[in-house]
Amino acid sequence: MNIPDHIPILWYEDKDGNFLGEPNLQVPDSNEFKDAHVQISEFPFQLRTTYLELIRDAYGKVGSSKKMMEGESSWSDDLVCAMIRGDKGHQPMTASRAIQIAAKACERCMNSLAHEYGLTWGYPEYSPEWQKCRTSCQWCDETQNKKKFEIPYKLKVGDKL
Ligand SMILES: [Zn+2]
Repeated sequence: MNIPDHIPILWYEDKDGNFLGEPNLQVPDSNEFKDAHVQISEFPFQLRTTYLELIRDAYGKVGSSKKMMEGESSWSDDLVCAMIRGDKGHQPMTASRAIQIAAKACERCMNSLAHEYGLTWGYPEYSPEWQKCRTSCQWCDETQNKKKFEIPYKLKVGDKL
């Protein structure tokens, strides 16, 4: 198989599907693009999250949906690769799972993961840097909620509540 070193992420084609000009140009302002009909993009570092409002009929059955919002997030390639390999004694995981975790992690969780997986960047969970970083996401909120709702002592049968 002959895979090129650089695969375009953005390019233009005419009405017949012919490739026009140099790939990865953002603005088709030269004469090369005078016949451009479509812009095609393939961004490999995007996890897309879509919220659809469910539209119900008179009987409460979901009949269709309407897009409410959509967002994209990216991830660190070296972190995802370390998660796939299972570096530093972690369980290896699939690429899709690693991407989903890394792309959804907030800044401090991403840094904690990088530290846990032995990358050259990042910081430990609950370190001063972690405390200083005011981001939050479902991963660290869950951790905080566990700590918040941790019972400080164990109840014994017969204890009054
Ligand atoms: Zn987080």
